[in-house]
Amino acid sequence: MKLSEHIILGGGAALALAPTLGARGSLVFWASSVLIDVDHHWDYVYRNGFRDWSPAGMFAYHERMFAQIHRPDFLAMNLFHTAEWFLLVACAMLWQGSAILFAVLLGMVFHLTLDLLRLARHQAVFSRALSLVEYWIRRRMLVRRGLDPDRAFADALAAVGRGPRRGGFLRRLPQDS
Ligand SMILES: [Zn+2]
Repeated sequence: MKLSEHIILGGGAALALAPTLGARGSLVFWASSVLIDVDHHWDYVYRNGFRDWSPAGMFAYHERMFAQIHRPDFLAMNLFHTAEWFLLVACAMLWQGSAILFAVLLGMVFHLTLDLLRLARHQAVFSRALSLVEYWIRRRMLVRRGLDPDRAFADALAAVGRGPRRGGFLRRLPQDS
């Protein structure tokens, strides 16, 4: 789901939950339901070799990436969208007995539900691994089938002009001059 949709729908849900969560709780719910997507930015920065941190580049990259979700070698994973991360927050919430962490968790669940609904609409629910263990297993399965799980992401980067750069060393080679 797009960031603007998360902001609007998360805001609407936060308003509806305000009587239950309180003003502070519903604000935290809203923030959590939007900020969970920060892992998309990490993914972009990591995959482009920490060369470009721009939000514009990230949005362009993710648009290209989303267009490839039906490829057989496509497998996404975003840390904050995994069962392990949810479990960690749930454990911290129970351990601390924290109402704020409850609001954080609720925001995350709301966000992930919207993401899954969007993927379901595109018949691509399984294009993103929802667990680190699942990702590890499915990634190995792709490699065993002779597929490159990083290819689709490299293609998306190349399509937005952030692919592997021919750096200074390569530029000095004779065939490049
Ligand atoms: Zn998301």
